[in-house]
Amino acid sequence: MSALTASAIADLLARLELAPENPGAFDGAWIETTGARVESLNPATGEPIAAVRSCSPEEYDRVAAASLRAFEEWRTWPAPKRGEIVRQVGEALRAHKEDLGLLVTLEVGKVRTEGLGEVQEMIDMADFCVGLSRQLYGLSMHSERPQHRMYEQWHPLGPVGIITAFNFPVAVWAWNALLAAVCGDSNLWKPSQHAPLTALAVTRIAARVLAANGAPAIFNLAFGDRRAVGGPMVQDTRIPLISATGSVAMGKQIGRDLADRLGRAILELGGNNGILVTDDADLDLALRAVLFAAVGTAGQRCTTTRRLLLQKGIAAEMKRRLVQAYGSIRIGDPADPATVMGPLIHANAVADYRRALETAVAQGGRILHGGKVLDRPGFFVEPTLVEAIPHMPITCEETFAPILYLFEFDTLDEAIALHNAVPQGLSSSIFTLNMRSAERFLAATGSDCGIANVNIGTSGAEIGGAFGGEKETGGGREAGSDSWKVYMRRQTCTINWGETLPLAQGVKFDL
Ligand code: NAD
Repeated sequence: MSALTASAIADLLARLELAPENPGAFDGAWIETTGARVESLNPATGEPIAAVRSCSPEEYDRVAAASLRAFEEWRTWPAPKRGEIVRQVGEALRAHKEDLGLLVTLEVGKVRTEGLGEVQEMIDMADFCVGLSRQLYGLSMHSERPQHRMYEQWHPLGPVGIITAFNFPVAVWAWNALLAAVCGDSNLWKPSQHAPLTALAVTRIAARVLAANGAPAIFNLAFGDRRAVGGPMVQDTRIPLISATGSVAMGKQIGRDLADRLGRAILELGGNNGILVTDDADLDLALRAVLFAAVGTAGQRCTTTRRLLLQKGIAAEMKRRLVQAYGSIRIGDPADPATVMGPLIHANAVADYRRALETAVAQGGRILHGGKVLDRPGFFVEPTLVEAIPHMPITCEETFAPILYLFEFDTLDEAIALHNAVPQGLSSSIFTLNMRSAERFLAATGSDCGIANVNIGTSGAEIGGAFGGEKETGGGREAGSDSWKVYMRRQTCTINWGETLPLAQGVKFDL
């Protein structure tokens, strides 16, 4: 039973201009797509919410061509004017925050506050990008030649292909699309097969803002799987940059295909994030952080804590507190405000959860709490704690489910070595009140991740910083700081305002 009745769902879809059957492409107008029909399922019930038609190859091609045309006009708009459009997109998202947040809950099973948080992240990105539109700074350099001036400037790049994962169905679009928009790029969004409705709703909202301002259709959408849209987009030379979020396997394939045509990539792939808790840590703080980071979003964040490394002096006490806390987590309908943990996304994710636990036990792990699939409609599992042996192979993989592996350590050096001994490198944390331990963790010889925190968990990053990870996480950076530079092309300019032609490095070429 869902807290959302069938008529409440129908009203929500109507308010967001979604129908039971929806076209899956937008290039300034909605295209009646003719590819495969995909039903978006409510993971809390397993029932369909509405259907979307995928693109055929010709329909993909039409959207890509339109995106290029939109780019050719958009790049001529002054950046602050582009920022004004993005400001209005942010306002429109604010106006629809409740409904969009609820749709995220309905379609991917995030609890209400996380669904709303995802929309807030889009709004935050819009605010950030408005300011950025007046700060796309280049450097000026002193030329070694007299009466010469050197500087660099940043130009729009082209249409950006945005491939998103199911678990952040709209925020990741905003990290990319709004940044790309102020940089003067159009974009072409290929949303997840499991979250097309949120993508359609956001595209409608953004498109209305463009139309009201007479702006070119820079926010395009092409729905379809890797064969219909993902693959063709990655190989499309009209699209100089692909920003792809998803599993490591997907990133390796896309990375190879892009390398083949020397396309640019932003790869945001899987994580296997660890938290270290030292003997001197504030255990109350650590417990709360671990719970949110390991159980939040039912363990389906790229930044979910999957490995907890406990120093021996506090290990027994932390395990006792964790088992107690895990026993009181309210699992259920994500639309119910009392729920803390919702469902997994689909039946395959439940199968992956089962398989990982069987493997963990076969490799010497011991289940301390949880481990069961719930006997109810939808895709619900118990959050699970597993006592693990260092370097157990399954603990080096990302299983997209709420499984937390527990390890013990004696020294901080030993813990950092164990922490870094996985292929992924996204997010990491240490809980300590010792300044030396904190700095040791943040030093060049400490955490090898793209994100390293002290006394906060691994998930829930703010948009102001550059987001992304190292090693098999792909090396891409999105959102804040200077991530915008990847969405533009840098041009180094040298101007000679004198009457002679001195050559650099003192080279003489006199005839
Ligand atoms: P997924 O890899 O199954 O799919 C992600 C997207 O890539 C989908 O849109 C899919 O259709 C597309 N895709 C898959 N193979 C493709 C190919 N060969 N060519 C083109 N497109 C292709 O991932 P998922 O199950 O949707 O999401 C979960 C994964 O995403 C986890 O591994 C998670 O860690 C990762 N993720 C990473 C970040 C990050 O920022 N690092 C953020 C969110 C999710």
